[in-house]
Amino acid sequence: MQFKDIVGQRDVINRLTEIVDSGRVSHAQLFLGPTRDGSLQLALAYLQYLCCEHRVHHADGELRADSCGECPSCKKIAQLMHPDLHFVFPNATTTSVDKPWSGEFAAEFRQFLLDNRALGTLDDWYAALGIENKQGMIRELDAAHIVADLGLKSYEGGWKMMVVWMPEKMNAAAANELLKTLEEPSAGTVILLVGESDERLLPTIRSRVQTVRVQVGEKRVESNAEFAELMVGWLRLLFKLKMKELSSQVDKMAQLNREQLKQFLQYTLDVMRDCFLKSAAGMPCTLGSGDEKFDAMFPSMITVNNIERINNAINDTMFAIERNAYAKIALMQLSFEMSKALKKR
Ligand SMILES: [Zn+2]
Repeated sequence: MQFKDIVGQRDVINRLTEIVDSGRVSHAQLFLGPTRDGSLQLALAYLQYLCCEHRVHHADGELRADSCGECPSCKKIAQLMHPDLHFVFPNATTTSVDKPWSGEFAAEFRQFLLDNRALGTLDDWYAALGIENKQGMIRELDAAHIVADLGLKSYEGGWKMMVVWMPEKMNAAAANELLKTLEEPSAGTVILLVGESDERLLPTIRSRVQTVRVQVGEKRVESNAEFAELMVGWLRLLFKLKMKELSSQVDKMAQLNREQLKQFLQYTLDVMRDCFLKSAAGMPCTLGSGDEKFDAMFPSMITVNNIERINNAINDTMFAIERNAYAKIALMQLSFEMSKALKKR
């Protein structure tokens, strides 16, 4: 992938090419930002530029430089067939793999990146792998292979490259193993961590990587029609608390797989914050439910008196879901907490 194939991110790209041109390439970097906004695309285009044999510099235009896209190195990286380019990513047991690590799924991951132009989310990846209901992870076995791969001599005589996608999914043992590699990088290696959140990374890892912040798309609240319908149906019931109806609505929500459920809760949290900010500022705000009366009424229910409680309740539920809590119980608890909070406006 060339930089010109990426939407936006011009400032970030120009900084990256300047650094490469000046020869100050960092051995370990964290590309931080949503995959959908191009964090993984940036990492791949960056590696292609780093290895390109005929970098192209532009006198004018948005991009100061780009890879040529035509030299053997560019072609191998674009096809994800470069022998010195390795990938580590969340994975899980499948019907055919009982000791999972990234190498077992290398062909599937390559195809996934090519099919989605490296914009596919973690959910998309789990779906491609057929493990929608599992929590993928990066384990010790992956970390051991990182160490082994980077310890080898470069096949092509150039950079040895390791891309760790979603390092926030590393377990503690893998993170500690990776830390050793980051502490003593072997010559000629580049490790790119490409993640969406650095909150779950060990501080010792964060302190050893140079962070490249990907410019995040403006739109925070997505107009996800399915989520909106599910959320509004649920919010309505929190005022009446009719148990039978609430229980069947929660059943519907619990049918989402874990990753989708976390996304749904994040979506709900974003909408709540949006309601609070806009109603506090006296701005119109709509839930997009199609019911004008409810749309007009609901945002005013989120005030300085209950936003924090709502925020905490949703965050706690996301954390519980992440930790494999039984979804229906977690969602019922959230319903009661939200119902109380809405009454305390
Ligand atoms: Zn090239």
